[in-house]
Amino acid sequence: MNSTTGKSSTADHVIIGAGVTGASIAFQLAQRKAGRIVVMDKGFVGQGNSCRSSALVRMHYAHAPEVQLAVLGYKIFSNWEEIVGRPTHFRRTGFVHITKRKYADRLRANIEMQQANGANTRLITSAELKDMEPDWNVEDFDVAAYEPDSGYGDGAAVATDFLERAREMGVEYRPQTFTQSIDVKAGRAVGVTTDKGRISTGSVVLATGPWTRPLLEPHGVDLPIEAEYHVVVILKNPSGMKDRGLTCIDDITRTYFRQEGSGLTLVGGYDGDAGAHPDEFPQSASTDHMVELVIAASRRVPLLEEAGVAKNVTGIYDTTPDARPMLGKIPGIEGATCAIGLSGMGFKLAPGIGVVMSELLLDGKGTSIDIESFYPGRFADGKPIRPETEYDDA
Ligand SMILES: Cc1cc2nc3c(=O)[nH]c(=O)nc-3n(C[C@H](O)[C@H](O)[C@H](O)COP(=O)(O)OP(=O)(O)OC[C@H]3O[C@@H](n4cnc5c(N)ncnc54)[C@H](O)[C@@H]3O)c2cc1C
Repeated sequence: MNSTTGKSSTADHVIIGAGVTGASIAFQLAQRKAGRIVVMDKGFVGQGNSCRSSALVRMHYAHAPEVQLAVLGYKIFSNWEEIVGRPTHFRRTGFVHITKRKYADRLRANIEMQQANGANTRLITSAELKDMEPDWNVEDFDVAAYEPDSGYGDGAAVATDFLERAREMGVEYRPQTFTQSIDVKAGRAVGVTTDKGRISTGSVVLATGPWTRPLLEPHGVDLPIEAEYHVVVILKNPSGMKDRGLTCIDDITRTYFRQEGSGLTLVGGYDGDAGAHPDEFPQSASTDHMVELVIAASRRVPLLEEAGVAKNVTGIYDTTPDARPMLGKIPGIEGATCAIGLSGMGFKLAPGIGVVMSELLLDGKGTSIDIESFYPGRFADGKPIRPETEYDDA
């Protein structure tokens, strides 16, 4: 401990990034009494992409460990008060995933796999969906996946709650502290250098989203994370539209949508703009972008054509070549681990990622869930994750 600043100059674990991922890892490490833990962020808790998240919570994935992480995350979200000691932010709306007709068999197989992994999901017909959502157009598919328990949460609130609780358990938080470099000696992490001083540690955890590459490049490590720009629009429901509906991910219109409190609908799109910069992107969506989203979503919910635009959100996905996270040891730097590349799924997975990353750090591997397939070196090894039941052109 530095006697003038009151801050630690050594730590057992240094976590860089106080978004939902870093805060969740800090919370789990603190629960397991993993020693002196420091979390730092160049800004403030949740201020990265977590506060921009649409925060959908669903279990519909094609890769079993992803489903397991989502199920674990859901259990934590739905027992938030008991586990984190704060009021819940989770809204149970029910969820439906719509795929193209040609993928009906894959949809069935995925639902079976998800059920086997503990997800509450089932196949419904388009007619059943029409009964639940009379305003929706259901002519272009026959079956869909329905999750009665799923819904959405709040990224900034979840990051803040996890970090606050971690701090109550002794974690040290340093906002506005930019990590300039990971210090490495003989291939081993020995500390981090920040704009406010140095901390010695044998364990550096990167939860730095799209800002990760510059920290690794000086050590000759290049993990393929790209920054992708995304837009979300929040619409004022027209009168006559049902107020509270199902949350939906729709491969046919390439949009997702959900209620946003009362009287508003949030709409996001699948397609982002690659090659973005995580600090220099438009803070407000263009009219063209918003119009495109509204037109696409109104193919599913025609009444949305009459909706007014209330506000919009822009943000960055940290995508990987297989659009799946990199969780694990960073190749070439002993003692450095990462939970990055979370693309558009990092909110719902964050609670589960905290659990498995704490297991990796303290037990040597994910013990609740096998996370081996997410290892960061998989692209260099030519082993991206490609499940047979993926909806390839979704
Ligand atoms: C528009 C949008 C919609 C989304 N919708 C969903 C959704 O519906 N469901 C879902 O599950 N996910 C969704 N996501 C994805 C999800 O929000 C993210 O995957 C998740 O928030 C990532 O959290 P994180 O903690 O990894 O990263 P971030 O929240 O980005 O946090 C990373 C932090 O690291 C800090 N940092 C970086 N470099 C340094 C450094 N050198 N020194 C100090 N600090 C540093 C940053 O300041 C930042 O606060 C969406 C994302 C966006 C942008």
